[in-house]
Amino acid sequence: MTRKLYTGPIVDLTFDGDVCQHAGECVRGMPAVFNVHARPWANPEAANTPDLAALLREVIGRCPSGALQVAEHQAA
Ligand code: SF4
Repeated sequence: MTRKLYTGPIVDLTFDGDVCQHAGECVRGMPAVFNVHARPWANPEAANTPDLAALLREVIGRCPSGALQVAEHQAA
């Protein structure tokens, strides 16, 4: 099992491809961040406002497998 970290300006996310069920909730919910044709396919850099970060948290919360998880930045 390999969980990979993708960093963004407000929230980071982690993804474990062995767990993903390819349900597509992520790419449907936030195509600016999740694009299987881009490298890296997950780009939390695009969630660069509080509203977009909130949407990203919500979309990750819909991931049915737990493959995607939010990694909140530690408070300074
Ligand atoms: S929502 Fe989760 S299970 Fe579905 S494709 Fe995205 S990462 Fe995989």
